[in-house]
Amino acid sequence: MNCIFCDIIDKKSNAEILFENECVLAFLDIRPVNYGHTLVIPKIHYENFLALPESELSELIKVTKDISGAIVSSLNPQGFNIVANNGTAAGQSVFHFHFHIIPRFNQDDFRFRPKLKEYNVGSMHEYADKIRAAVLI
Ligand code: AMP
Ligand code: ZN
Repeated sequence: MNCIFCDIIDKKSNAEILFENECVLAFLDIRPVNYGHTLVIPKIHYENFLALPESELSELIKVTKDISGAIVSSLNPQGFNIVANNGTAAGQSVFHFHFHIIPRFNQDDFRFRPKLKEYNVGSMHEYADKIRAAVLI
């Protein structure tokens, strides 16, 4: 399997590593939305969010929070986004799960402004019913 993030974990490919422990690695995104844009990945290859076991998720979230704090205190952004793209349709281009931490500034040029839909009468309830019926917890 060819995976650039696995290569970074194995030190076969260079990255600007910010933090690593036995299960998680954080490094700078090579094509940042804003400078300091960081990726946080599990050291085991999982394709997407749904494939991640809960045991991995808790450490990944903890490190994502800690690194977000370090980005805020060192770079003083006015905000930050935590984003995870899952699937090509959602913009995922590297199929090794990762959280993006994107420092944000009031006048930066990163925009996520979709044309928002409206539900037809009753259809919001139908969508909710479909999802509720599939909730397994
Ligand atoms: P996504 O499109 O959500 O799958 O995000 C993948 C991200 O990985 C993109 O923002 C790329 O810029 C970043 N990326 C790809 N290759 C590298 C690399 N060798 N080092 C650092 N970041 C990378
Ligand atoms: Zn991988």
